[in-house]
Amino acid sequence: MKYSIILTTLLVGSFFAANAQNAKPEDTEIWDPIPKAVVPGKVLGDAPSDAIILFDGKGLDQWVDVETQTPAKWLVKGDILTVNKATGNIETKQKFTNYQLHLEWRVPASITGSGQARGNSGVFLASIGKGDAGYELQVLDSYNNKTYVNGMAGSLYKQVIPLANPGRKPGEWNVYDVVWTAPVFNQDGTLKSAARATVFFNGVLVENNFELLGPTQYIGKPSYEGKAHGPSPIKLQAHGDKSEPLSFRNIWVREL
Ligand code: MG
Repeated sequence: MKYSIILTTLLVGSFFAANAQNAKPEDTEIWDPIPKAVVPGKVLGDAPSDAIILFDGKGLDQWVDVETQTPAKWLVKGDILTVNKATGNIETKQKFTNYQLHLEWRVPASITGSGQARGNSGVFLASIGKGDAGYELQVLDSYNNKTYVNGMAGSLYKQVIPLANPGRKPGEWNVYDVVWTAPVFNQDGTLKSAARATVFFNGVLVENNFELLGPTQYIGKPSYEGKAHGPSPIKLQAHGDKSEPLSFRNIWVREL
């Protein structure tokens, strides 16, 4: 009896291990329904008086390179910050829990590539480690660029499809306004309450208080298991695709 339990445990265990090993990025891609295109109106983005300015063109004092925790080396020109793919992701020195975030991003007019390899970046609403560890609000050229819809601009990567597609064409500035509610964990590391995100994309609601299933994942299903964390930096992605790097400007946050 005892041995059969052990044998069953081993069999089930190896089944799940094999399953995890065979998992592919495609397994978690969703391609329809395609969110309807919406032409956005003008959006105001000036920082209010109580905002913490994360980037306004006056340098990168608020940011560090994720890998080395040394000063960020993305490119600043005028009031514009451009991704430096050679150096990798950057994150804020300051850690946040619940907040309201504003940022603007632009895909170069001369962008090439397709799908996920066309103007890909991301805003990790809480960075919980190196690389892409965290909760990614996708940044991508989503103007006439077909990809899986749970990975287009305005998606919380591979967790939810945006409610609409108000993306502007390459060369024009897009605006994200986000309300982030951090997850809460119990003393033993189990989840007490999930993270939630509300996202306005060019003034259009695309995520309505969405409850995240865990940190976003490229492969496999998201989960909070073993992922307990406290206040976290906000991280911007230097994606490894070959298309031209995109730019950010006017980034500010209000703690809640
Ligand atoms: Mg991305």
